[in-house]
Amino acid sequence: MDMKMKSLQIDGKEVELLAEYPVRFACMEHLEQELDDYVNDFETAPDTYAAQAIEGDGVDKSCRECGEPGQIALLKEKGM
Ligand SMILES: [Zn+2]
Repeated sequence: MDMKMKSLQIDGKEVELLAEYPVRFACMEHLEQELDDYVNDFETAPDTYAAQAIEGDGVDKSCRECGEPGQIALLKEKGM
């Protein structure tokens, strides 16, 4: 699912996000498809992180495609 967040804890650091772009998660099986979808939906390539590096209450790390636990986070970092 799409989550709009202003910032996230990544590797213990507060990272500011571009609020107009969502945070999405993908399992390894659907990573390629999610990368394509992100580019198609927002005309920009997302920044990617290991899902386990992402901390935060209420962050749903389910794969957007299949609902299995996501391995990779797709998001847009401010200043990247
Ligand atoms: Zn999946």
